[in-house]
Amino acid sequence: MNVTCSSIINPWVSHTVRIQEITPEVADVATYHLSFDDSAIAAAYRFQPGQFNMLYLPGVGEVPISLSADPSSSATWAHTVRAVGNVTQQLARLRVGDTLGLRGPFGSSWPLSAADDHDVVIVAGGLGLAPLRPAIYELLRQADRFRSLTLLYGSRSPDTILFEHELPEWSQRGMSVQLTVDRASPDWAGHVGVVTLLLDRLPLSDPQRTSLFMCGPEVMMRFVGKSALARGIPEQHIWMSMERNMQCAIGLCGHCQLGPTFICKDGPVYRHDQLTPFLNVEGL
Ligand SMILES: Cc1cc2nc3c(=O)[nH]c(=O)nc-3n(C[C@H](O)[C@H](O)[C@H](O)COP(=O)(O)OP(=O)(O)OC[C@H]3O[C@@H](n4cnc5c(N)ncnc54)[C@H](O)[C@@H]3O)c2cc1C
Repeated sequence: MNVTCSSIINPWVSHTVRIQEITPEVADVATYHLSFDDSAIAAAYRFQPGQFNMLYLPGVGEVPISLSADPSSSATWAHTVRAVGNVTQQLARLRVGDTLGLRGPFGSSWPLSAADDHDVVIVAGGLGLAPLRPAIYELLRQADRFRSLTLLYGSRSPDTILFEHELPEWSQRGMSVQLTVDRASPDWAGHVGVVTLLLDRLPLSDPQRTSLFMCGPEVMMRFVGKSALARGIPEQHIWMSMERNMQCAIGLCGHCQLGPTFICKDGPVYRHDQLTPFLNVEGL
């Protein structure tokens, strides 16, 4: 639980939030801009980039969803959600003005201060860009603390590129943005292939002073981790966000156990070396 939140925010209690706006992103994915009905909760609520909330639909269920917006904007709290199953498909049926429950924020965050004076490389796959977007806003806001900022983003096809309308602005503000797709369309003139290829080709002026933050499918993160290590980036500078089925979100129920850790409270953001023993164990 975020220590900056006031004690009025109880991790067991779902607070009522109202959908203020819905932004359709790509097929089956939309961003829900939520506001708290209770103004005291709204004033107290803060989150760190990389953290998540539990979104609750009464009578349906509760799911962990990352915050995907600018942490410094406190008007609404954005969650970018893919409709895949029970809860998320029901969420996709809600409209502006409808309410749901929210408890959080939970979990660890992207350690941006550990990247001070480093070249920062962000590697995202698919919807993995959503939990990284709050970190990108922070990095851009404090760009003079870092030697350089690079985003390597891999998407299945050109029509599934998330937050595509924002990418030119991130470039203008000094972030080098490189895209690749698994399957090109006839009008796609960019890279084709897995995102690891972008990392393999990225010039690194000083790997020892490079920090890498990644989020995407687990198989992608395994290969990006290997590639980053092969490029000489120290394991202590490589960070990744993990996903597992979760229930309590406060480290009690054990649903999200990974090795000796619980992803809900020790993660979702981990340093690569904390996960090395478990990354290649099938079924973990
Ligand atoms: C820390 C954390 C942060 C997360 N952040 C986000 C986020 O920002 N946005 C988001 O959309 N999701 C996010 N997820 C994943 C999200 O929690 C799940 O997609 C959700 O729990 C599915 O619940 P459901 O009831 O809709 O589907 P269920 O009914 O539980 O599942 C239905 C089917 O969908 C499959 N499925 C479940 N999850 C996924 C998935 N992620 N991708 C593809 N298939 C899946 C299941 O295997 C099952 O076959 C996050 C998960 C964690 C642990």
